[in-house]
Amino acid sequence: MSKVALITGATRGIGKQIALTLAEQGYDIAVNYRTANEELEETKKEIENKNVKCIPVQGDVSNFEDTERFVKEIIEKYGKIDVLVNNAGITKDTLIMRMKKEDFTNVIDVNLTGTFNVTKNVIPYMMKARTGRIINISSVVGITGNAGQTNYSASKAGIIGFTKSLAKEVASRNILVNAVAPGFIETSMTDVLKEEVKEDIASKIPLRRMGKAEDVANLVKFLVSEDSSYITGQVINVDGGMLM
Ligand code: NAP
Repeated sequence: MSKVALITGATRGIGKQIALTLAEQGYDIAVNYRTANEELEETKKEIENKNVKCIPVQGDVSNFEDTERFVKEIIEKYGKIDVLVNNAGITKDTLIMRMKKEDFTNVIDVNLTGTFNVTKNVIPYMMKARTGRIINISSVVGITGNAGQTNYSASKAGIIGFTKSLAKEVASRNILVNAVAPGFIETSMTDVLKEEVKEDIASKIPLRRMGKAEDVANLVKFLVSEDSSYITGQVINVDGGMLM
């Protein structure tokens, strides 16, 4: 019986690449999406081309009832969830002087509370199975901070605390929980940056380039494999050496 992976926010960018990489490893995939669009159809097709099953599950991760519903849908169809990747995330960057309260709470609600909501609904099944892997996508700015991102950095730092606490709670059930902290990765999230800003960022990265979604997905592939069965509660950076 194939293993099952749920990836949130997986219609594009890093989430899509993680879904494709795990599909290549033989996982049946549940792709969580918020908005149905062509990207979703394309992602589903690409996953199915790898000869595994793919079910798209609609839901806003910041809405607890949505997450309760779509986790049940996956259990009804696949019977289990072996791997959860909490990837869905948003930015609403601005300096605190201009930041509205909703800009702060929306980012926390999706990135941090969303991670709680999905995990809370998945964990009973992993506890019962006495096995599971949870990967939370944080960010290097959750460690360093970044001007213009008090909301985003707080959410990503929160994910690190969440990851370590959960890892301690569930280790005895053989459930491993780790966080991945990407640096600057080429996706639609960073496409909004001006070309000169991107060049400036790349010049300060020791490997002299922005990362690719594959760079993050390859680490996730390792963290769900048997090769990482003694690693839990860790935050691993994928950042071209930006943070050291
Ligand atoms: P992206 O291209 O903007 O993709 C984000 C995905 O999350 C989209 O599929 C989006 O779907 C989904 N999403 C957003 N809000 C959601 C919600 N409430 N419920 C369900 N899905 C939702 O971003 P990305 O660059 O791939 O980022 C993926 C993750 O990596 C995020 O957690 C991000 O913070 C983190 N990260 C990215 C970078 C980077 O440089 N790119 C660096 C560090 C960390 P919709 O289209 O429906 O909104």
